[in-house]
Amino acid sequence: MARMPLQFRTKEVFYDGKVNILYQDGTLARFEYFSLRCACVCASCVDEVSGEKILDDSKVAKDIHPLDSAYVGNYGLRIHWSDGHDTGIYNFRWLRESFPHESEKVN
Ligand SMILES: [Zn+2]
Repeated sequence: MARMPLQFRTKEVFYDGKVNILYQDGTLARFEYFSLRCACVCASCVDEVSGEKILDDSKVAKDIHPLDSAYVGNYGLRIHWSDGHDTGIYNFRWLRESFPHESEKVN
């Protein structure tokens, strides 16, 4: 299997009001809690067959935040949110390529 390029591999994940993901190419990307929670693509948030979103963003608490998280292989992050939801897996590559965020070069 081909090795995943450095810009999609992570060194560290931490939370300080945003989800901070430090990629191995030295880029720190920062993602908002609320928008990440609303973008969950698990089977209870998005219909697997139609692809339609089931989750109602207006029901998500504005102060939603992660309680805990765990790596899924080397490609993603499973976040346990303060509303009890923990089935969503956020793919590091998708986050970097397709999800709006701020980023800076840190080394
Ligand atoms: Zn979900």
